[in-house]
Amino acid sequence: LKQYKQAQRYQLQQLRRLNNAAAPETTKLFINGEYVESQSDQWIDVHNPATQEVVTRVPKATAKELEEAAHSAQLAFGSWRRTSILTRQRKMLDLQQAIRDNMERLAASIVSEQGKVLSDARGDVMRGLQVVEDMASITNHLQGQRLEVSADMDTYTVREPLGVVAGICPFNFPAMIPLWMFPVALATGNTCLLKPSERDPGAAMILAELCKDVGFPAGVLNIVHGSHTTVDFLTSDPRVRAVSFVGGDRAGKYIYERATQNGKRCQANLGAKNHAVVMPDANKEHALNAIAGATFGAAGQRCMALSVAVFVGDSGAWISEIAERAKQLRVNGGFESDADLGPMISPEALARAEHLVQSAIDEGATVTLDGRGISVPKYPRGNFLGPTVIDHVTTQMQCYQQEIFGPVLTCMRVDTLDQAVELINGNRYGNGASIFTRSGACARKFESSVEAGQVGINVPIPVPLPMFSFTGNKGSFLGDTNFYGRSGVNFYTQLKTITSLWRKQDAEDRQATVHMPT
Ligand code: NAD
Repeated sequence: LKQYKQAQRYQLQQLRRLNNAAAPETTKLFINGEYVESQSDQWIDVHNPATQEVVTRVPKATAKELEEAAHSAQLAFGSWRRTSILTRQRKMLDLQQAIRDNMERLAASIVSEQGKVLSDARGDVMRGLQVVEDMASITNHLQGQRLEVSADMDTYTVREPLGVVAGICPFNFPAMIPLWMFPVALATGNTCLLKPSERDPGAAMILAELCKDVGFPAGVLNIVHGSHTTVDFLTSDPRVRAVSFVGGDRAGKYIYERATQNGKRCQANLGAKNHAVVMPDANKEHALNAIAGATFGAAGQRCMALSVAVFVGDSGAWISEIAERAKQLRVNGGFESDADLGPMISPEALARAEHLVQSAIDEGATVTLDGRGISVPKYPRGNFLGPTVIDHVTTQMQCYQQEIFGPVLTCMRVDTLDQAVELINGNRYGNGASIFTRSGACARKFESSVEAGQVGINVPIPVPLPMFSFTGNKGSFLGDTNFYGRSGVNFYTQLKTITSLWRKQDAEDRQATVHMPT
C-alpha cells in the first residue's frame, strides 16, 4: 500500500506539473555526467498512452551533441577500463541499491510514458535489476583459464573490454532493456552510449541519474536521444565497437547490417510470434490461466507475449473458456488499482492491431471476443484495445503472418504434437514457445524439436533469469552472442591469450630456433 501511495503521489506531481506548465519539461541528454538541454530544432512529443497528454519532449540529438557524447565515452574508457574490478563490482552493488530505493519512481515513469499497469511496471524494473545484481558477481564472470603448458611456461586468458559500446532500445520495457545492456557493458569495463526509445525515455534518464548519484565517473554512461540520425551515428562512428539492439525487424535488420558492415559486433533481438501448445492431457485451469495472463498482460506488448495458442486434439473445446477468462480482465489506466491491462503505446499501434483483427474476420476466422472499441470511462482518449480472441486462424492469414503486438490471441487447432511442432517451426520467428502437458515424453519431444530461443514447459513466459542468457532463434535474433549472463559478458569483451616464459635466472639460450615451436 505504501508503495502504491508513493506512485500515486508521483502521478499527481506529474499531473500538476502538466497543468501548471505552459510547455512540458524537455528530456535532457546525459553527456559526460551532465544533463544537457539539446540545441536541436527537432523534438518528439511523448504522449501518455492513457490520456494523450504530452509528458515530455525528446530531442533528436544534433551532430555536435552526438560527437560530444562519443568523445566523452572514449575519454572515460581510458581510465574506466583500468579501474579495479572490485571498484566496478562495488558500483554495481551501489546501483542495485539505488534502483531498489527508486523502484516506485521508475515504475511510475513507465506507467506515465509507456502505459503498462503499475504492478507490471515494477516487474519491468525488477527484471532489469536482476541483471545488475548478477553483474555484482563480475569477479566470477570474468575469470579466465590458466595452464602450465611447459616447464616455466604458462598460457592464460583474460577477457578485455572492447571500448565504447552502444545500446539501442525499444519502447516496451523502458527499464529492463536498458538494464540488459549498460550494466553488463560497464561491469566488463566498457563505456556506453545508450539510446532509449524516443517514445519513453524517462526510466533510462532516472537510471542515468542513479548512476551519477552512486559515483560512476563522468562519460562512462551517456544517454543520447533521437531516431534514425542517432542510430546512423551509433552504427557508423568508428569509436563505437559494438552495438546492442532490441526492437522490431525493420530497424533491427538495418542496424545489424549497418553495424556489422562497419566492422562492429552486433547483437539484435527482433520481433516474435510466440506459440503455446495445449495438449489434451494438460492441467486445464493452469494452462488457460497461464495463456490468458501471458497473452493479455502488458496489453500484449511483450516480446515474449503468447500470441498464438495451438490446441491439440480435444483441447480445442477449451477455446471458449479462454475467452471467458479474458473477459474478466479489467482494462484501465495503468495507475488504477484494479487495472489488469493498460493502453497500447500509440493510436497508430492501436489502429494497426484493430486492422489485423478486421483482416482475420475478412479472411474467414471467427472472433470469439472482440475488444475493439472498448469503453474505459475515466480515460476516454486512451489507446485501449480490450482482450481479443480469434479462433480458426490459419497460417496464411495476416493476423498469423504479422506480429500484432497487442492483446490479441489467435487460436489454431491441430491433431497431433508433431503437427503443432511443424507449424511452429514453419513460422519465421523463434523467440519463445511453450507447451502445456502432463506428459514428460511430450514435453521432452517438444523441448528437443521446437525451434525457439526460450522454451517453456508448463511455463507461459520462460524469460531466463540473468544467470542464463536471453536466447533467440530464426528471425527473432541476429548475431551469435546473446544478451546478459555469460553470453552478455562475452559480447562486451574480447579474449586475450598470453603465453609467458619465466625461466630460472641462469638458464641460457644457446642458439636461435627457427622451426615452429611445438
Ligand atoms: P522499433 O524497432 O520501432 O524501435 C526500436 C529502436 O529502433 C528505437 O530506439 C528506434 O528509435 C529505432 N528505430 C526504429 N525504426 C528505425 C529505423 N527505421 N531505422 C533506424 N532506427 C530505428 O521497436 P519498438 O516498436 O520500439 O519495439 C517493439 C518491437 O521490439 C517488437 O517487434 C518486439 O517484438 C520487439 N522486442 C523484441 C524483444 C526481444 O528480446 N526479442 C524484446 C522487446 C521488444
